[in-house]
This record gives sequence, C-alpha cells and structure tokens, in this order.
Amino acid sequence: MGLRSRSQDPREAAGVPRPASRPGEEDGAGDARWRVADAMADLWRAVSATTDTRIFFEELSRRIAALASARGTVFWLLDADAEMLSPQPGAAGLDDTEPGELVSVPCRRGSGDVADRVVFGDQVVRGWWGAGGLGQAPEPNGLGPTGSPDCVLLPWRTRDRPLGVLAAVDSNRAGVGFSDDDVRMLRAAAAAAAVAWEHREAHGELALAREREVAGLREQIERSFQLEQLKTDFLKLASHELRGPLGVIKGYVSMMEDGTLGDVSPALAPVLPVLRAKLEEMNQLVNEMLETARLDDSALELRLARLDLREVVESAVHALEPLTGAAHSLVVDTAAEPVLVPGDRSRLGIVVTNLVHNAIKYSPRGGRVCVCCAAADGMAQVAVSDQGVGIAPEHMGLLFTRFGRVSTRETAGIPGTGLGLYLARDLARRHGGDVQVTSTPGQGSTFTLTLPLA
Ligand code: ADP
Repeated sequence: MGLRSRSQDPREAAGVPRPASRPGEEDGAGDARWRVADAMADLWRAVSATTDTRIFFEELSRRIAALASARGTVFWLLDADAEMLSPQPGAAGLDDTEPGELVSVPCRRGSGDVADRVVFGDQVVRGWWGAGGLGQAPEPNGLGPTGSPDCVLLPWRTRDRPLGVLAAVDSNRAGVGFSDDDVRMLRAAAAAAAVAWEHREAHGELALAREREVAGLREQIERSFQLEQLKTDFLKLASHELRGPLGVIKGYVSMMEDGTLGDVSPALAPVLPVLRAKLEEMNQLVNEMLETARLDDSALELRLARLDLREVVESAVHALEPLTGAAHSLVVDTAAEPVLVPGDRSRLGIVVTNLVHNAIKYSPRGGRVCVCCAAADGMAQVAVSDQGVGIAPEHMGLLFTRFGRVSTRETAGIPGTGLGLYLARDLARRHGGDVQVTSTPGQGSTFTLTLPLA
C-alpha cells in the first residue's frame, strides 16, 4: 500500500533521516518498508540506552507518535495477576488530565471487552477511544472525550506473552485518519517495543541478581568480621585465664628444680625436664595467643632497646632444648661480634622461639636444626633451617595468615594454632624487618628473620 502525501515526513519529526528508495522498487512500497526498518532501528537505539522507565516510555511513545502521525500514543502495561492494565508514565501528546483515558482498567481474559480482545485476542481495534476507559464497551457513535473516533488499539506482546496495549490517538492527517500503512507501522513498533521491554526486564533481573549477590557478600564479610572478633575475644580471655595457673605451676617446678621443696626422688628426677619443656611449650602458646589478641586490638606497643640479637637467640634455644628429641641435633651458630638491633627483647624472643620450635616440630623424624645469627647485607639475620617435612609451593600462601595451618599427611598429628608465623612476621615488620621462607618438600625449610641493625 502506498503512502498518502502529507505535510511533514514523520521520520523527520522523529529525527530519522529519510533513506532513498532502492532502484527498481515501486517508490511507495519501498519507502514504507524502509520506513519500518528505520523506525525499528531508531526505536531500539533510543530506548535501549535508558534505564529510567519514564524516559523509556517517553522516548518510545514520542517516536511512535511521530512515525504514525498520531497526536498521541500511550502504552498500557498488563498486570496478569491483578488482571489490570495500567497506563505507563511518559505518554506522548496525552496526559492524565484527559478524562477517562489514562486510568487503569480491568483486563480479564474471556470478558469479551475491548481490552480482552486486544490483549488476549491479539486484535487491532480501531475507531474507539472510550470515555469510560479502555475496557468499557464503545460508545454508540464511537466518539470519546478526545472528540475523535480516530484511534487504534494494538496488542503489545512478545512472541508468547501479552505485555499490554499500545494506543495511538488522533491522526494528524485531518479527515483521513490512520491508514493501513500506519497500522502496519504501529504493529511493527509494538513488536520492537516488546523486544526492548524484554531486554529491559532481563537487564533488571540481572541487576537484581547482582544486587542480591552484593548484599550476600556484604553479609558474609560482616559475619566473618564478627567471627574474627569472636576469635580475638576468645584468645584474649583464654590467654589471660591460663596465665595465672601457668605461673603457679612454673613456680612449683622451679622450686622442685632448685631443691627448695627438698630432694627430688630418683623417680621424679627424669620427669622434671619434661615438665619444664611442656611448661615452655604452654608458655609459648599462651604468649602467642595473648600477643595475637593485642595485635588484633591494635594494643601492641613495642618497647625498643638496643640489644644483642645473639642473646635473644641463645635464650630461646636454651628454653627449647628440652623439647628436642634424641633424633634432633640443635646447632647454634652465632657471629663472634655482637649483632646489635633496636628491638623489643620479649617480642623478638617470641619470634625466634616460634621459628626454632617449628623447626623441631615439623621435623618429626629428627635431623639437624641449625640456628645462625649474624649480620649480613647490612641487616641482622637469624636463619633457622631444618631437615623436616618441608612446605609445598601451593601451601606457601597460607603460612603467615592468622590461624593458617598446612594440613598434610605428615603434619596431621602435629599440634598447633596457626598463630605463630602470623605473629612472627607481624612483629618482625613492626621492627622494620621481615620473616621469609624457602623450602623443599620432603627435605626441609629455612625461615629467616631479618632486622635493621642498630
Ligand atoms: P602452628 O605451628 O601452630 O600450626 P605456625 O603459624 O607457626 O602455626 O605455622 C603455620 C604452618 O606453617 C604450620 O601449621 C606448618 O604447616 C607450617 N610450618 C611452619 N614452620 C614449618 C617448618 N619449619 N617446616 C614445615 N612446615 C612449617
């Protein structure tokens, strides 16, 4: 069907450039097809760019009105559960002051009224714009409050789902009304609008899913923060509570060792070093727990003094000697000259004790544990090497984390909290130094504490 002449090309009104007819095409038919193709592309571009519902319908309605030479267009959206059609904001050329036009109307399948025929019956209804609303029976003369019988109601639907109604009101071509061509154009526009709406819905669902995911993650993070705080509180409480009784036991063991409590019986004598060793282990554990809790609470303050790192090493090794079994040989190799560092003696003691204790613990079949203390490359160093189980490269990332323990067949029976290295590295870094590790699984590891020299 050819186009009638008109005062203004609707594509110009919609900002769409007019394409040339293709050679060999009958001018009108080719133009009409091009017009639809242009219009669809243009509509798609315009509405897919916006996330705002009002702007979406505004753009859609304005462009469709221009393309179909209508005074106004409006979309009604179907709420299938409520069986209602609601006019969407952003109608072109119409507003809600037009009585009876932009109000929600019932839309029941099988009711036989206009809304039912358009939405569920997929019919195009022409010539009526009802005063009582879309779903009412047409008035006898077909005249609505707009004073015009010139109106087209079209189904707005996807391939398998009714979305609502598209209405075009009052053709601008006075006395002629909407042509078949206009209706075809409106049908194509409604189809494009349906695709755009589906696209939008999918986007909305995606955004919603993303929002839910973010909320879930936030909740998880909050929960793990709370859990971490609980752990810190527990560490604080447990270590405080254990210090008292531990002090009492240490006192009695010391009194037994120095004879204050009388002679030690021959049966008790070999037990005393074991008691002493186990006490040292407990002491270390409690210290680690306490210091970790302080660290987490930011309540840890270093008491720095100029000290000889060799002394720290010797006293740590001395305290741990009772723990070494017959299969271990503990070798201490310290520099002849003092290795002076600005440091907190007891905190550096915790670091060295942890490294040496680990070297013993994680070489369950024994072997040589070597503790070297010297100044090298402008730094003070304590290197603790063992011939133990070693650490696989994929487990390295776990080592210095809070409660991080490597669980393998070889380490399964070895007790620990996973706090020692976390604390050791943190304390070293607070001194301006670090703890590094190199290891070969099955052959052993070397942990090296470096500190700035005084
Ligand atoms: P803990 O020994 O209490 O588990 P640490 O923080 O001291 O905690 O050590 C963390 C983990 O690093 C240990 O569980 C262990 O798997 C590994 N590890 C530490 N030192 C050694 C070592 N010398 N040889 C092998 N593995 C080690």
